[in-house]
Amino acid sequence: MIQNGQIAIQVQRGSAIARIIGENAAKYDEFDNTVNMWVFEEMVDGRKLTEIINTDHENVKYLPGYKLPENVVAVPDVADAARDADLLVWVLPHQFVPKVCSQLAGNIKKTAFGFLIKGVHIKDNGLELISQMISENLNEMRVYALMGANIAKEVAAGNYCETTIGCSDEERGALLKKLFEVETFRVVVVADEHTVELCGALKNIVAVGAGFVDGLKLGDNTKAAVIRLGLMEMIAFAKSFYNNVEVSTFLESCGVADLITTCYGGRNRKVAEAFVLTKKSLEELEKEMLNGQKLQGTQTAAEVNRMLKEKGLESRYPLFTAIHKICFEGEPVTEFITCLHNHPEHM
Ligand code: NAD
Ligand code: 13P
Repeated sequence: MIQNGQIAIQVQRGSAIARIIGENAAKYDEFDNTVNMWVFEEMVDGRKLTEIINTDHENVKYLPGYKLPENVVAVPDVADAARDADLLVWVLPHQFVPKVCSQLAGNIKKTAFGFLIKGVHIKDNGLELISQMISENLNEMRVYALMGANIAKEVAAGNYCETTIGCSDEERGALLKKLFEVETFRVVVVADEHTVELCGALKNIVAVGAGFVDGLKLGDNTKAAVIRLGLMEMIAFAKSFYNNVEVSTFLESCGVADLITTCYGGRNRKVAEAFVLTKKSLEELEKEMLNGQKLQGTQTAAEVNRMLKEKGLESRYPLFTAIHKICFEGEPVTEFITCLHNHPEHM
């Protein structure tokens, strides 16, 4: 694949994953020691975030309390950060991907490949995976998915977790495993790339439903039902729109494990709970509660719904549909429970 020299790596933010990549880049000969990390520049307490990261080795805004390895270098210009990279690791809210692709076009090596964002994109002719969008905009770059039960702070703390890489190329899969795996972050590589990516996007919609259950104080049995029915809709969705979907992929960390962790500990859950309790808008809550971080689940619910509506399939996905309507069409949150009572899985 990459025949000469070492592999230069660039990460777009993703400080938790950059800690792991930095450690492995320093350890293994095939990787260049320096890992460039593009950081969307902002001022924090009168200092540039890139300057803070490069001096104090800590992303004080998005991952406070955890040191970054000194070989992870923050770069404010995305084209500068990526120019010499053989491997781009994409970690940014999916709404910013189109802009970043346009900034990178013409500025990166043809061999570069990368991944790691939970979301989907809707085009006029239907749904597009983020990997496909990146590939289309950047020289047909091959983009593989890394998804799993990986809440950033817990990964950074070194608490044991697992992740799944979807990569149908064995040689690249092995290289990616080497780059991402440490003792506390175990990697399983599967060939079913699209399913791995879809799992990461769709579970965020279900997490919004789990937050509604918490806001309504309905307890763990109801949340378990939401997780199960959500998983059934995820599987049905993947099988309807993609070929060769392996149901066993849903048993990997990217499937059932990520679904569980997000429905208990994620930001989508937390903000959806507050949406029920406070009656404030999602935009207001995102600003108030997430300190610059972005919600992915509500936006993915809207994107998926647009396609389901166009294809006349809303009634086959009542959980996805109710979540969208509650978030964006003023439907009362109690309708979420009605949709569970009448779910086609029980018919
Ligand atoms: P985030 O939600 O914390 O968003 C904040 C990031 O967005 C910051 O790095 C900020 O610099 C950047 N940003 C803000 N405005 C921007 C702009 N105009 N242009 C470009 N960037 C801008 O980001 P995150 O949690 O790192 O999520 C990135 C992706 O990783 C998402 O798809 C998410 O689902 C996925 N993910 C997150 C976690 C987690 O626990 N945080 C775990 C696994 C996967
Ligand atoms: P949230 O975006 O809901 O926090 O989920 C994080 C995640 O994807 C954990 O794997």
